[in-house]
This record gives sequence, C-alpha cells and structure tokens, in this order.
Amino acid sequence: MLHYTSTRGGAPELSFSDVLLTGLAPDGGLYVPTSWPTGHSADPHLEYAAFAAEVMWPFVDGTIERGDFDAICRDAYGTFVADDVIPTVTLADGIELVELFHGPTLAFKDVAMQLLGRLFDHELNARGSRVTIVGATSGDTGSAAIEAFRDRDNVDIVILHPHERTSEVQRRQMTTVDAPNVFNVAVQGTFDDCQDIVKAMFADVAFRERVNLGAVNSINWARVMAQVVYYHWAAARAADRPVSITVPTGNFGNVFAGRVAKRMGAPIGEFVVASNRNAILTQFFQTGAMTIGDVEPSLSPSMDIQVSSNLERLIFEILGNDGAAVQQLMSTFRDEQHVTLPAELIPRMQEGWLGESLTDEQTTQVIHDVYEESGMLLDPHTAVGVGAARRRPDSMQRLVMATAHPAKFPDAVEAATGVRPPLPAHLADLYERDEHYTVLPNELAVLQDFVEANRRP
Ligand SMILES: *Cc1c(COP(=O)(O)O)cnc(C)c1O
Repeated sequence: MLHYTSTRGGAPELSFSDVLLTGLAPDGGLYVPTSWPTGHSADPHLEYAAFAAEVMWPFVDGTIERGDFDAICRDAYGTFVADDVIPTVTLADGIELVELFHGPTLAFKDVAMQLLGRLFDHELNARGSRVTIVGATSGDTGSAAIEAFRDRDNVDIVILHPHERTSEVQRRQMTTVDAPNVFNVAVQGTFDDCQDIVKAMFADVAFRERVNLGAVNSINWARVMAQVVYYHWAAARAADRPVSITVPTGNFGNVFAGRVAKRMGAPIGEFVVASNRNAILTQFFQTGAMTIGDVEPSLSPSMDIQVSSNLERLIFEILGNDGAAVQQLMSTFRDEQHVTLPAELIPRMQEGWLGESLTDEQTTQVIHDVYEESGMLLDPHTAVGVGAARRRPDSMQRLVMATAHPAKFPDAVEAATGVRPPLPAHLADLYERDEHYTVLPNELAVLQDFVEANRRP
C-alpha cells in the first residue's frame, strides 16, 4: 500500500484515506506519495471512467474495495455531458484543445471534485462519521464543491461568497442548488474577508471539533490524483511527436498533476506553465526566483494568484525530497516575500518546464483570432493557454488544457468576438431557477452560529 509523506518532513506518514480527509499536513506541508507508481499500462481504448480507475488504482489500493472504486469513478464521470467525458478539438493551426469543462459547473475543477465528493462520502460512511465543509470562494471552486457534495448523507457544506462581488453566472451556479445539506452565505465583505473567516474557524479548535470542520481546497492530494488521469489519457492519444502540454495555471494543482503523469511514464516532453499578468510563475521558471507582488485583477480571474500553493510539491522534488530544506525555503519566502533557488539546481528545475504569460490585451487578441480562424469560442483562461502554446514550435504536438467553458465568462468572450456564448443545455434555464442564500455580516461569531444552527447533527 502506498503511503503519503508531508513536503515539510514533520508529520507522520498517512494512508490515502487519511490524506483524503486531512488535506493540509499538520506541519503546514502538502502530502505526496513516498514513491511513484510506474509501469502504468491502462488501455487507452477503455471508456474514460474505466481508464481513470485503472490509472488511480495504485494511489488508493489497500484503502477501498476495487468494485467500490470502479463504481465511484463511473458515477463521477457519468455527470459529464460529453460522451467521451474529455473530448479533444483541433484548431486551425494544429493546436489541440483537451476540453476539461463538460462537467456540471463548466470548469475543469469538476473532474476532481466529482470524484472527491463521492470518495468523502464513502470513507465517512465506512468510519461512521460526518464533516461540515466550510469554504470561501470568489467563483469557480464554490460551485464545483457544491455540485460535488450536494445530497451527500455524511457531509454538510457551507460556502461563503462576497455579497454582490461574484459574477451572476457564478453566483447562480451556487445559489440555485436546492439540497438539504447545501448552505450559501453572501458575506457583506470581500473575498479576502471570506477567506479570513474560514481561517479563523479552523483556528478555533473548540468550534472545529464541535462541527467536524473539513476542507476541500486545491492542495488536497485526491484532487491532484484525479487530474493525473487526463494527462495519461491525452498523451496516449497524441501523435508520434514530442508532446508539449500548456496549462493555464493558478494554484499549480492542474499542471502538477501533469508532472505526476510524466513521472509515472506518460510520454510528455514539456510543460508550458501559462499565466496572466500575475506572472510570478513565469518569473520562477525563467529565473529560479520568485517575488510576491499584489494580486491584480485580470480577464482570467481563476488565475489571479501570487502564491501558488501546489508549487511546494515541485519544490520538494527539486530539493531532493528534503522536507527540512522545503520548510526553510517556504519560511524565507513568507518572511521576505522573495526566494531564489540554489543556483546549481536551476538548470535541473528548468528541464522540461517553460513559463509564459499573456496580458489581457494579448488574451483578447487570441480569443478574437481563434474565433476568426477556427470558429471556436475560447474562455479567457483557455485563451491564455493557447497564446502560450503558439510560442512553441509546431514540430511538437501542442496540447492545451481547456479549463473553462466560454459561457462561464461571457463578457470577455463577447468583447473579443461580438458573440455571446450560450449556456449549454443542462444549464440553459439557470437564469430562471430560484436562488437560495443568506446575507450575513462579516462577523466570525455570526457565521459560526449560522454553521452550528444549520448543519445536520
Ligand atoms: C482553477 C482554475 C485554473 C487554475 O488551476 P490551478 O490548478 O489552480 O493551477 C485555471 N482555469 C480555470 C478556469 C480555473 O477554474
């Protein structure tokens, strides 16, 4: 059975099921497997759900029955509207889009969340326990989590969003879910206020234990694991040329999953880490240094991030799995808002990695050009990826992870093309559905009372 260790080396090793429910390690690190399964041989002709079960099995083996795991995968990927779950589309210039956005909330986060919701329920059932998940969202994560955990017997979910500060599509995707275990709160404050409230709830040990507080943020290993699958899936289908995969990146969870697939043997030549104007990762891959700046709003809000939490998993690898060295580097980064990798490690770190970034103007141009050339509407996150991939030679097989449906960001798409992308059929009546949410002041005590009063005992 595979075990998981913390990137900071100061926490006991855990099994998959403990890592699933724990999220962040108690020493502040992220969990990674102590070894990588290799010799992966899933048949690319399998259906996606069966392929997924095959790829992920070594990570979960020993903690769940194979039949249960197969059923969970079938159920999770049955919620995707595309027949082949993750279809690919080729643009006029030969770049291939791997469309990850055909799940219930139209962004790639559904691929991991749909699995996570079912794995949580299964594990909590086996343990006879329950959790209350509380999260803050500026948009995409909240709706993916709500869709994944709605109607699950052992989980209640409370999502805080900043009142009148999310887009209408994003708010409605959360608030129109009518389920007895889903609670949306519009906090009278900003996204940062929402995040601070969640952190304060976790810091209040008595409260945390009373309500069995849980989290499903992007550092959860199981989310990375679910994303490993489509890198194997896409690489297995690519032609006989070196494969370059571009990933629109925020917290580095998605592209790190690609790295895991490559370590497991997937034939991938390089990763292009694509950023918007918040280009700290571009700086990192080009120079080996990172300086934290202020987050600046862009057309691709899900990538408006300065500190990419999952990068720590790659840093652990670069530093030779030395948890103490990671601990030191991360605390320097926090204290000085700047860090440089040791010079001798930089060439090794850059092998197979490129960083590229696009301004909003360049992003809009890509959306416009691709619509003219290929008749395809791209969302602004995917467009950042396509713009970066276009800088790579076409002697490579260039794949781009398409992370959101254009209808999720209709204003940016319409501004670039003059066309307003329609919502797909399963969400076509989103604007007619009833909304369910409670507006509350930005006060910890009020929000804690709300959680205690509403969660099911
Ligand atoms: C979350 C998100 C990203 C960033 O993914 P990471 O795993 O955080 O790097 C990119 N695009 C969209 C549409 C997203 O929702």
